[in-house]
Amino acid sequence: PSSATPLSALSADDLAARLTTVRAAYDELKARGLKLDLTRGKPGSDQLDLSNDLLGLPSSYRDRSGADVRNYGGLEGLAEMREIFADLLGVDVASVVCGGNSSLTMMHQVLTALLLKGGPDSPRPWSQEPVVKFICPVPGYDRHFTMLAELGIEMVSVPMNADGPDVPAVRALVDDPAVKGMWVVPTYANPTGAVCSAEVAAELMAMPTAAPDFRILWDNAYAVHHLTDVETKSADALGLAAASGHPNRPIMFASTSKITFAGAGVAALAASAENKAWYLERLGFAAIGPDKVNHLRHVEFFDDADGVRDHMRKHRDLIAPKFTAVEDALSSRLAGLGIAEWTVPTGGYFVNLDVLDGTASRVVQLAKEAGIALTPAGSAFPHGNDPRDRNIRLAPTFPVLDEVQAAMAGVAVCVELAALESLTR
Ligand code: PLP
Repeated sequence: PSSATPLSALSADDLAARLTTVRAAYDELKARGLKLDLTRGKPGSDQLDLSNDLLGLPSSYRDRSGADVRNYGGLEGLAEMREIFADLLGVDVASVVCGGNSSLTMMHQVLTALLLKGGPDSPRPWSQEPVVKFICPVPGYDRHFTMLAELGIEMVSVPMNADGPDVPAVRALVDDPAVKGMWVVPTYANPTGAVCSAEVAAELMAMPTAAPDFRILWDNAYAVHHLTDVETKSADALGLAAASGHPNRPIMFASTSKITFAGAGVAALAASAENKAWYLERLGFAAIGPDKVNHLRHVEFFDDADGVRDHMRKHRDLIAPKFTAVEDALSSRLAGLGIAEWTVPTGGYFVNLDVLDGTASRVVQLAKEAGIALTPAGSAFPHGNDPRDRNIRLAPTFPVLDEVQAAMAGVAVCVELAALESLTR
């Protein structure tokens, strides 16, 4: 049943009739015994196959300078690999460190070092402060929030808008010296797909903060993960911060997890000279050098940043139809009903679905009972607590296209059924 009449405009009798119809559709769905999963924000195996040539590389074991990559050393990573990231991220190569396979690990290292040692401009280690708080744009990336919870950092939420974190809300928080930093996923945010504008980025980098060592963890995980032929450039975080007198504020992260192999890519960090030296000094107590064989393998595979950009277009061709399938299923069944809003992202890995307030958990439960796994409601919020119980993160990249279509047709039924249950209560 598709109708352009908002459900809220229907009479009690019409709502009851519609509930009967949609419940029948749901029972049919359940009877199909589906086994589908939209929870995993990871590449499909066809995407991983694009990088299989990595498995036969590198063809040499010397880098450009002649160093033997099989040996220890080279803590900041291979120069050639750092150049590729610098080009992709729009930063100076001198600011880049290439590490292991996980940017999340680098974020964790930065936070633990800030807690145990403090940053270059910290009055004392963060762990010696009575309380440390972080600003979390919501909805956001669940692992950012669980990492802070694990480390005992309190979370304060601000809205994530279409052009980035809500600046007035952020400004209202940063005059508290306990507020030491914030997360930003600037390009194709997880899960909304929002892109932080240059204006918002400039304000975040320039705003006065009570904490002299305020840090913006600028997680550009999806910088080159475009879903259309518009290849949006990220705001120049490091440049804007330096220009406004806060060069140490941002620390940028990225990786090739969703470019080559999610489990065996290369991660990178970019920061001011002072931050970089601080990070490398800490890292020097934890490692003698990174996996330079993997760096060299990636350098041989891509040649340069344009090689990465070409490669990303192949990913786009594989996953864009899956995002179109999500949009088609939601709009054909739910448009105009006034019970759901969703994003149509131009990049990244997710679709953000907001259902009728108070029904997200019910939608996830209904879907589960029909064999469709969805990310638990609330996971895009600190401590898993969505105050409006309306947010659901959809991850369409991992299942094959047919499964995305089948799962999303089912999700749309669950969204409407949960709304009708709530409206007829
Ligand atoms: N940052 C964001 C915003 C992500 O969505 C993800 C993965 O989903 C990661 C980081 C993980 O990055 P890595 O594989 O480099 O640890």
